[in-house]
Amino acid sequence: MNSAQNAPNSPKLTPNMGLKHRNTFGFEVCAELAYEITAAEQIPGLMQQIAEQKLPWRVLGGGSNVILPKLLPGATLLMNIPGQEITQSDESNALITVGAGVNWHEFVSWTIEQQLPGLENLALIPGTVGAAPIQNIGAYGAEVADFIDSIEAFDTVTHAFVTLPKEACRFAYRDSYFKQNPHRFILTKVAFKIPKAWEPRLQYADIAKQFSATDAKPTVQQIFTAVCNIRSQKLPDPKVIGNAGSFFQNPIVPDQQYGDLLKQYPQLVSYPDQAGMRKLAAGWLIDQCGFKGLRAGPVGVYQNQALVLVNHGDGTAEDILGLAKSIQDKVREVYGVQLEIEPNIF
Ligand SMILES: Cc1cc2nc3c(=O)[nH]c(=O)nc-3n(C[C@H](O)[C@H](O)[C@H](O)COP(=O)(O)OP(=O)(O)OC[C@H]3O[C@@H](n4cnc5c(N)ncnc54)[C@H](O)[C@@H]3O)c2cc1C
Repeated sequence: MNSAQNAPNSPKLTPNMGLKHRNTFGFEVCAELAYEITAAEQIPGLMQQIAEQKLPWRVLGGGSNVILPKLLPGATLLMNIPGQEITQSDESNALITVGAGVNWHEFVSWTIEQQLPGLENLALIPGTVGAAPIQNIGAYGAEVADFIDSIEAFDTVTHAFVTLPKEACRFAYRDSYFKQNPHRFILTKVAFKIPKAWEPRLQYADIAKQFSATDAKPTVQQIFTAVCNIRSQKLPDPKVIGNAGSFFQNPIVPDQQYGDLLKQYPQLVSYPDQAGMRKLAAGWLIDQCGFKGLRAGPVGVYQNQALVLVNHGDGTAEDILGLAKSIQDKVREVYGVQLEIEPNIF
């Protein structure tokens, strides 16, 4: 792959790069050929060479939603594209374009500094802006899809850049067109549309509780701080204990199945979903099966939140997936519900 390194617009190549600090589980990982992508123009030439040489390849943002093996063969594209700019602003909306490699939380903080509120409920979610639309990140009653205008990506099937308007991105709960078509699009830039009319989103119980003592409308800064505080209390900091946030998606079941379960388990925790369906709290199911705080060798289930699997030190992808399987098997046996793993398994 030396020609890619020497060509104009070529990304920096590091052979055998360690990625322990670029995956939040903190697994020891070696990328055979790591390319640091700092500009979209670097992608077409590199992908051409990868195709010619029939190399395996994958894209990595901040590594906060992946389960990586010890060795990543072939090419790993580290998405480091910088830049954020307000490209348009009128009395209704502001349009902001942001490079895929920008840190999500830093971007959220920056929008608030620019007096463009809206993203505060999504503060402190780890990772990059380019990865945020892939699983339509969400928290505390907000989803990134609510604020996306369009996405620029390199289509590795047609070998051309495309700009997809929001409607083409088919966003749904932790889902998108990109997730449905894995290994096809490399997101390079995201355009956000932030409405100027702002209302606090307080429907989520944890947030509402913070402001229940007063009738005054909270400020953006107060909500931002509340979200950061709640998250810091509930979720382990990956710098201290390796994890990928929620490990399982909340399963969505038909009303009939939900009703049957509720008769048997009146304490069952669930949330409304689309008509005829109910979203069950995966953490509650796992907790009830006795897994909270359990250790399985170097990995385990976080003591304060059963939905989070953790690496206590020298764990590997096999260790985590082994633990995940025992949880899935038990939850299926007891509740008849299949838990799906949220992070991407490479
Ligand atoms: C402590 C913690 C808390 C979390 N809380 C939340 C939460 O509240 N809500 C939530 O939704 N998620 C949460 N997550 C998950 C994670 O933060 C998000 O999924 C985030 O968007 C992943 O970003 P990343 O840059 O780390 O992506 P990575 O983990 O590097 O990649 C994730 C997937 O996206 C692909 N990808 C990454 N960048 C690109 C790109 N530019 N183009 C194409 N494909 C790309 C990768 O190939 C991979 O398949 C949490 C994770 C942790 C560790």
